[in-house]
Amino acid sequence: MMYCPYCVQGKTIVIDSRWDQPYKTIRRKRHCLACNYRWLTLEVDLDQITSLVQTENAKNESKGHPTEGKPSIDSKDTGINDY
Ligand SMILES: [Zn+2]
Repeated sequence: MMYCPYCVQGKTIVIDSRWDQPYKTIRRKRHCLACNYRWLTLEVDLDQITSLVQTENAKNESKGHPTEGKPSIDSKDTGINDY
């Protein structure tokens, strides 16, 4: 049961639900019968997200791009100005 975040009395209905394919999420448009407040909720299937993240990580590792390991220290911060 989803309660209305506005009046917190409950009695809400789902007007519309949309399946977001790449992230396995469901957007639901909800409507409160008590105060007519409308809002959107996002439902996430955590099992799907976890497997999605794992496959993404596996892809990145197989690519082997060394972009992540670059040192982020700016040369100015060393205090050496060798012009
Ligand atoms: Zn309400």
